[in-house]
Amino acid sequence: MKTKRTVIVQCRLSSNRLPEKAIKMLGGKPVLAWVLAAMHKIKADRYFVATDEASYPILKKICDENDFECFAGDLDNVLKRFCDLITKIKGETIIRATADNPFLFYEAVEASVLEFEERNKKKIVCDYLTYTGLPHGSGVEIFNGKSLLQAASQTDDPYDKEHVGPALYNHKDKFNCEFIKAPSRFYHPELRTTIDTYSDYLRAVSIVNYLSDKNIKEPYSTEQILEACTSSYVQNPIVFVPSVKKGQGTGHLHRCIKAAIDSDSFVYIPKDYTLGEVPEIVGGYLKTGLKEVQIIDSLPDDTFKPVIVTDSFSLSAEEIEVYSKAKALISIDEGSEYSDYSDFLIDIIPSYKLKRKANLTETGFIELPKNVRAEKQLEFNKILVCLGGEDPAGLTIPAANNLSRLYPGAEIKAVVSGTAEEIKKITSGKTKIDNIEFVEPIKNLKEKLYEYDLVVTHYGLTAFEASGAGCAVLLLGSSKLHEKLAEKYDFAFVPENGLNEKNMRDSLSSEKVFPSLHFNKGDNLLGKYVKTIAAGSRMNCPVCGHKENKLDPVISRNASRTYRRCSECGLVYMSFTTEPDKKYQKSYFFEDYKKQYGKTYQEDFDSIKNQCFRRIGVISELKTEGSSKNVLDIGCAYGPFLAAAGERNMNPFGTDISEDAVNYVKKELHYPASCSSFPEIDTVSEFGVSHFDVVTMWYVIEHFKNLDSVLKKISSILKVGGVFAFSTPSAEGVSAKNNPDNFYTISPSDHYSVWEPSKAQRILQKYGFTVEKMVSTGHHPERFPSIQKSGAKKGSLRWMAVDKLSRMMNLGDTVEIYCRKIK
Ligand SMILES: [Zn+2]
Repeated sequence: MKTKRTVIVQCRLSSNRLPEKAIKMLGGKPVLAWVLAAMHKIKADRYFVATDEASYPILKKICDENDFECFAGDLDNVLKRFCDLITKIKGETIIRATADNPFLFYEAVEASVLEFEERNKKKIVCDYLTYTGLPHGSGVEIFNGKSLLQAASQTDDPYDKEHVGPALYNHKDKFNCEFIKAPSRFYHPELRTTIDTYSDYLRAVSIVNYLSDKNIKEPYSTEQILEACTSSYVQNPIVFVPSVKKGQGTGHLHRCIKAAIDSDSFVYIPKDYTLGEVPEIVGGYLKTGLKEVQIIDSLPDDTFKPVIVTDSFSLSAEEIEVYSKAKALISIDEGSEYSDYSDFLIDIIPSYKLKRKANLTETGFIELPKNVRAEKQLEFNKILVCLGGEDPAGLTIPAANNLSRLYPGAEIKAVVSGTAEEIKKITSGKTKIDNIEFVEPIKNLKEKLYEYDLVVTHYGLTAFEASGAGCAVLLLGSSKLHEKLAEKYDFAFVPENGLNEKNMRDSLSSEKVFPSLHFNKGDNLLGKYVKTIAAGSRMNCPVCGHKENKLDPVISRNASRTYRRCSECGLVYMSFTTEPDKKYQKSYFFEDYKKQYGKTYQEDFDSIKNQCFRRIGVISELKTEGSSKNVLDIGCAYGPFLAAAGERNMNPFGTDISEDAVNYVKKELHYPASCSSFPEIDTVSEFGVSHFDVVTMWYVIEHFKNLDSVLKKISSILKVGGVFAFSTPSAEGVSAKNNPDNFYTISPSDHYSVWEPSKAQRILQKYGFTVEKMVSTGHHPERFPSIQKSGAKKGSLRWMAVDKLSRMMNLGDTVEIYCRKIK
């Protein structure tokens, strides 16, 4: 049965922004083939690609393979091209798609065609119809063929001719055109699926990777496309940036390409690389799993903002300038002075600056050689001396000479590199002295290490790889840092100033020549690990928000988070986290609470309530005027503070985002409470109160990502002279002072700001508050080093002395801050 429908896909190869985008390969076939497959899901009488003469031969082939007819018409006057085709085939209902949209919502196309036909069946004139609000690149236009012919005959506008739809919808006085808001299933105007730019193309590649990873076959359904577009994998594309500079070895490039293969990510190799082996290495991986599209020579723009993962040895200021604008910056073995710019630092071979801390130090990510020795060999017959491309301390020759005397029967290879002149200087023009042979740097060294009984090198990847290959390893070093690192990882070591026969013999006879290193025995998981980190989120100072061109120094790093101090207001905040947002459901007050505090929230209710009486006492001392004290408790939970305030003749009001908690307060405690998220609440319509005498937040302030709007709102609903009181963990208590990194590591994942009492005034005065009183709470003598060392029991003299000291010095792990609104 005839449908009277014709599908026409408009396509040209001469695009300015992304030439030949329609025939770029996507998941093993040209982009155009994706469009045609999706459009074939629509019932129609005929299916056409409308192109120009020049593009015809190439496109004809794709059309044939996809059961489309190919029509060549005018290149620039696309309106004419359409009209010529419509005239030729007497087209009635035309469904127009463009060739740069591989992820068309064919279900939406079908629905909108039905709406168009429905109108015409009912004799409601409709010349043109389209859905609005689909992802940019997922929609089509439907129009009446005759109407278009008529429109074309009536326009001279170049814009109308260059496009198709405008000839109709820019002349609404003559034609009935309908723009209909798409049904909610299809309505996602915030998404982009078209391929107009290179970044769009990379996004398309990511969408296909995501879905083919799940074994989903094209053409994709609406829900599948939406799932892919909103996935962390597509939202946070990963681009590895290896060093491809000559002199820094090929290790970075190998590592990044492998990680990119493991994580389906991109590798950025700028066109001006100086490492000569790049094409050869890339070529090798293209045969073993790397896809051509994964290697990119320009970074995606802001429409597809990537997470950048640098493996660059040492980033320059210019590189930092570019990379810090990424969605997030993750750095591997970063050794520059700019490491604070990185949201997350991974040290695989920590060898640069011991001072700066990494989020994660994991030698297990080193991919070990495939060629491994069968057994350890304590007799050294084959020895390799390999100190890398640069041997600034000139350790190669003295080391080789000592080895030659210690092992006269051994075969010793010493790697020398540099210009011919430099090499000549080192070797006096000889290729062999005694049993030492001088050789050029060894290609693919990693897989040849196993041939040697002993490898003499300095601290770095080769040392780990040689050890992994089962060789004995001796490290030489020219600095204290080398020595420390050798010690840390338990390598046998000889320092530069002790490079003599005796020291070498002693070191080589120690067990340390076979250090017990932790190696990851399975697959190289770096790529997979980076994928989980890349899904994390970067955050700004909760008070000041985003600050252009200002770097907030890092305070602490741990395996899941990074903390910084705001350079503007001084607040310590979580700047990066790999943990998902917490949902404050019932379980938060029960299971989660118990996990953290060892008892349920309700078991704790009375003791919390007693704390609240004390707090009310402090507030009463500050706030003396007025008898009816309206008090709003934000984050009231199950109402311990409201109950205490009520018993002290105040008028308590509560607000919380937990519905269960709010119901409890209303039904069991009989106090007014509102289930709403602060600061969105309207206290006038909820409680009939515009200004409160007291506003409180007990262990709530640290949970806001946007504290600025919260503090502004509190200030606006508090009377001048009123009291704002809150409690929060203290970053100046004994736990934080004792071991700051541990303090931040065990800080709950939903504490976005961490307060230092000494900095509170500076932050709060921005909102018209002045701090009147601070109470140090949460005193734990057992967290003091002196109690931990002595093992003093609770109740002992020492214990009581420390408890007193904690209170006197305000070393409690929590703090209550009471301030007054002064303006
Ligand atoms: Zn700030």
